[in-house]
Amino acid sequence: MSTDAQGARLHQAFRFALDPARTQRRALAAHCGAARFAFNWGLEQVQASLALREFELCMFGEVRSESLGWSLPELRREWNRSKELVAPWWGEHSKEAYSSGLAALAAALRGWRASRSGERAGAAVGFPRFRKRGRRDSCRFTTGPVRVDDPRHITLPRIGRLRTAEATVALQRRLTAGTARILAATIARDADRWFVAFTCEVDGAVVADNGRRDTVGVDLGVHTLAALSTGELVPSVRPLRREERRTRRLQRTVGRRRKGSARRRRAVGHLARAHRRVASVRRHHLHVLTTRLAQSHGRIVVEDLNVRGMIRSARGTLSQPRRRVRARAGQNRAVLECGFAELRRLLDYKCRWYGSTLVVADRWFPSSRRCSGCGTVRGDLPRRERVFRCGRCSLELDRDLNAARNLVRWAEAHDVAASAVETQNARGEAAAIRPPAGERLEEARTGPGPEPEGITTRGRHRSGLPNVR
Ligand SMILES: [Zn+2]
Repeated sequence: MSTDAQGARLHQAFRFALDPARTQRRALAAHCGAARFAFNWGLEQVQASLALREFELCMFGEVRSESLGWSLPELRREWNRSKELVAPWWGEHSKEAYSSGLAALAAALRGWRASRSGERAGAAVGFPRFRKRGRRDSCRFTTGPVRVDDPRHITLPRIGRLRTAEATVALQRRLTAGTARILAATIARDADRWFVAFTCEVDGAVVADNGRRDTVGVDLGVHTLAALSTGELVPSVRPLRREERRTRRLQRTVGRRRKGSARRRRAVGHLARAHRRVASVRRHHLHVLTTRLAQSHGRIVVEDLNVRGMIRSARGTLSQPRRRVRARAGQNRAVLECGFAELRRLLDYKCRWYGSTLVVADRWFPSSRRCSGCGTVRGDLPRRERVFRCGRCSLELDRDLNAARNLVRWAEAHDVAASAVETQNARGEAAAIRPPAGERLEEARTGPGPEPEGITTRGRHRSGLPNVR
């Protein structure tokens, strides 16, 4: 990414619901099916090649046959050699469909290899598995006629002109003005509805500075979606809670239906629709909140919460199984629901768009156990205690608001670091400030061992961002 904010180019996705005719629905599904076919076919070849390799190593002590390459060009070459035989109907779909499946396979293999060799951090990536029909059906088009025709129509290779269920003006305007260029279009099914997502290169979307000088602390929570240091409590978006009974009922219905029956398929469809509704409401609320934050504050401080850890800890470990797993799992589900990993992701790119700075305070900074009035750190603070009460300065404050204020104080106390962060941010990186040595030692008891001290920034370059869903 360039340091010149004016000329910066970002990738942005524009997603629209489609309103396809019956025959077009079939064409969309067929293209996803073709992509899936190519993926599964490729995976089969890879597995066979690995098995042969192992056999040869065992028999001859060396690999004698040429093994299959895992890159997209190599997989595609292999596909073109075999397609006449394995898929004589290949001409019925755009060649982009097969390419899309093979690209997904190449990416999955790459991820697995990188994870195994330790190049890739995070949870282990498993070996690719065969794709099943109806699960995350999608297909990507990168060449051929991919267009937005008018506010209600788009064109895709082979499938042709499709009506959209929502207006595409946001994208169309940019395309006409020449500030956006379509790189690819992905069709995907979610429950019974089809969507298209255009990946675009967008010009000048980055603002260097939004002119605001204030700092706002955002405490992401379970009970409220977010507490702002300004005193505002943003209520949690839990449409799932409201619809939970409905969803549970639908789940039971699915369980009662005989496998493979038409009635079961119908019940599964109802359930998928309920889930989709919930997800889209949540997404909407997160977008509204993050846009407002990034537009109206100079600096946004959030905590680096280990969401994965919070979720996994519900079950405890084998030697120390946790009690009340169900209740905890419920709470953790609420955490998931609020989707604050998503919130962080949105803030990350929106801060860049709107010219604010995202500061990520260290995970082990005791933001919830510290008094925002006098700085005393409490030994423990049970989850159920919703109000923070300080024994020394008798401060009484909502637990999450107290945490949010601490985040602001944290950023202010590290202003030297913050100015360093700002220069980093101009280059489009989110920064993490680590606490000074003293604080780290104090906290070392509660968390895993301290990492190297000082100010570190995380180079989170993301070329393919953002993905507005
Ligand atoms: Zn106090």
